[in-house]
Amino acid sequence: MVYSPLSDAVMQAYNTVFETPDSGLLATYIPKLATVDPNQLGVALTAVDGSQMTAGDSDKLFSIQSISKVLLLCFAYRQLDAKTWERVGVEPSGTAFNSLLQLESDAGIPRNPFINAGALVVCDLVLSLYPHADAQLLAFIQWLADDDTITYSPEIATSEKQVGHRNKALCYFLKSLGNLHNDPEVVLDFYFNLCSIEMSCNTLSRTFLFLANGGQHPTDNKQILTTSQAKRINAVMQTCGFYDESGEFAFRVGLPGKSGVGGGIVAVYPKRYAVAVWSPRLNEKGNSYRGMRFLETLTSLTGQSVF
Ligand code: GLU
Repeated sequence: MVYSPLSDAVMQAYNTVFETPDSGLLATYIPKLATVDPNQLGVALTAVDGSQMTAGDSDKLFSIQSISKVLLLCFAYRQLDAKTWERVGVEPSGTAFNSLLQLESDAGIPRNPFINAGALVVCDLVLSLYPHADAQLLAFIQWLADDDTITYSPEIATSEKQVGHRNKALCYFLKSLGNLHNDPEVVLDFYFNLCSIEMSCNTLSRTFLFLANGGQHPTDNKQILTTSQAKRINAVMQTCGFYDESGEFAFRVGLPGKSGVGGGIVAVYPKRYAVAVWSPRLNEKGNSYRGMRFLETLTSLTGQSVF
């Protein structure tokens, strides 16, 4: 543990949130997520110099859910570059993450890669690029994290697949609108696997560090994305990373980031650090209640945001 004003701020923000009553509900629509102990709280901040500050349940594995959509997008983007945006937009949707509403009027081009429709299209792009997409995406994520134990959770993927009727509807709707090239069932299996990835806050903050580091891998110095591409991924996280609460997150926290219905949030402070927080209870918009509070407190204490 490194002692610095930043580590003091992490501890102070953690203690503040730990001591305030929690609020919200688990994501019970995925049966397996309903079985998680809701009282857990973990935080981890990894700085670009490699130092890490942690508190609470920072090494417990949780389902990162939609957070993995950022990693999927990076995996496609590093191959396709600007062509990515021919199939998916970069505008906030202002609708629920699983909405079908805008697809028909938008000619099957989802508003952004982080709503479910957008992530399904990016899954389709990756399936067309990589013959063993499941294994190759996982290897990419393991490399980013420097951790070859990261894996999909078959229990969570199966649990979601059994009730994933809306995602199935979205996928077949995209197919009918001409913006899906692979078999919808193959795309859905890949999507449910993607959402089932488990990580701890420690690992999650390390995995996202390249986005704070101009697109460069923090330990082996390989360029994962160009500086310009990393800027654009951060921009899409800033504007679209928190469902229809992205404006509120920018207003309260002021960092690009991404949440998932497993209760995780990861945020990036460019050139300095990536920070992850996990607490399973979600507010009415689907974002971790204590996760939002932790990050708001942290950026208020440090005065460090992108604004
Ligand atoms: N697997 C979830 C779904 O498709 C992801 C939701 C999320 O984390 O935003 O509903």
